[in-house]
Amino acid sequence: MDLADLGATQLVQMIESGEISALELVEACITRIDAKEEEIGAWAHLDYNIARKQAEHCDAHQASGAPCDPLHGIPVGIKDIFDTNEYPTENGTVLDAGRKPDENCTVVNQLMAAGAVIMGKTVTTELAVYSPGKTANPHDVNRTPGGSSSGSAAAVADNQCIFSIGGDTGGSIRQPAALCGLVGVKPTYGRVSRYGLVAFASSLDQIGPFAATVADAALLLEVISGHDPLDSTSIAEPAPGLLSVLDQGVEGLRIGILDELSGHGVEGISPDVLARLDAAVEALTAAGATVERASVPATVYGLSAYYVIAPAEASSNLSRYDGVRFGPRTDGATTNEMMMATRTEGFGDEVKRRIMLGTYALSAGYYDAYYGKSQKVRTLILKDFAEAYEKFDLLISPTAPTTAFPLGDKTEDPMQMYLQDVCTIPSNLAGHPAMSVPFGVGDDGLPVGVQILAPAMGEATMFRAAAVLEKSGGAQ
Ligand code: GLN
Repeated sequence: MDLADLGATQLVQMIESGEISALELVEACITRIDAKEEEIGAWAHLDYNIARKQAEHCDAHQASGAPCDPLHGIPVGIKDIFDTNEYPTENGTVLDAGRKPDENCTVVNQLMAAGAVIMGKTVTTELAVYSPGKTANPHDVNRTPGGSSSGSAAAVADNQCIFSIGGDTGGSIRQPAALCGLVGVKPTYGRVSRYGLVAFASSLDQIGPFAATVADAALLLEVISGHDPLDSTSIAEPAPGLLSVLDQGVEGLRIGILDELSGHGVEGISPDVLARLDAAVEALTAAGATVERASVPATVYGLSAYYVIAPAEASSNLSRYDGVRFGPRTDGATTNEMMMATRTEGFGDEVKRRIMLGTYALSAGYYDAYYGKSQKVRTLILKDFAEAYEKFDLLISPTAPTTAFPLGDKTEDPMQMYLQDVCTIPSNLAGHPAMSVPFGVGDDGLPVGVQILAPAMGEATMFRAAAVLEKSGGAQ
């Protein structure tokens, strides 16, 4: 038996009972990483001694007879956009090369307090913007694992750690989860503290779990949810009870198939992906839910609004990379020339594209036409969701328009890359929770995800539907 193949809930019990040690589990992950890292490339920073030390600490705790914590000894991967004091945090950009924060972000502190072992930092595409990266999809190493949380998805899909943490600004947890056959969750905005997360687009960024099962995702989300006084946008609510609702089923729930995101509004969603959505509808209906078509008209403008708002916020957030305060510097004759040279040399093409789009949209004369208008679209999306949620408890759609595409595809055409998030973006604009659940494979045999969307704070209901889909067997 390969320990790394088992779920977190089972592993915690095995460690608690003394059947296995936390160190054995970490060694199982290390063996897996050593065998596959060259091929998959999921990790940005690894230091096995740190992971081993944490595991030994967990084992000493267990041996003392003290009660074990919820994630006792479980190896977790952390996307390299979260500050960690034992590993560097480089955000996939040379402008953060060698940066070693003094303190952990809140989420890492929560994970460690719950007994988790930090296995290492996982690869992010540059600054959490989706661009072609070096990480491969474990289901087919010639394909993309999705992004920007590419490493977090690939590491869990290849059982190199039991679960992982990612960031989702426009879909970067749910889309790679779908492409790698995992459960991926973007919680309600403010549910999980962003303190110590490197900001991409602050009004959209949210942190969430990748896991192999719905129960593991629920366990992890319970641990990282809750109010944090260090994040002013953190919601003053306790963590939701998720594990306790997983067997409640969907009997009597009203579920809407989000029409605009499932073939009738946006183009490019492939028929094999839509066929899996149909199968999910059947499974939910068979479990007692009422499933009907639902309309959220303004979601068709989501992609356009996002690609103004997210670059606008990114252009402002990324102004800190100026060669003055930290990081590498490229010299220039004047301060301005030095800054320009540093940014020209340091940022990759996609990040530069976002900064240009964002500064343009925010500049005098264009602000109302682009940024102002996009904010209005965001309000319309919220309004249309609110109307839909008067009639429905949950909505469903595909997560990504296609299965994983070949590495290197779409690199010449940014629009094709942007379209990957057409189904995930509306929930970020609304601040609502949404998750991807694996639900079978497409014509090419690669995983397909179904997205479940819920109103703000609706995580518990969302997880009930996810558990039903998982149990229905349609995921196989
Ligand atoms: N693909 C989106 C982008 O590049 C989403 C990024 C994210 O969620 N971090 O902006």
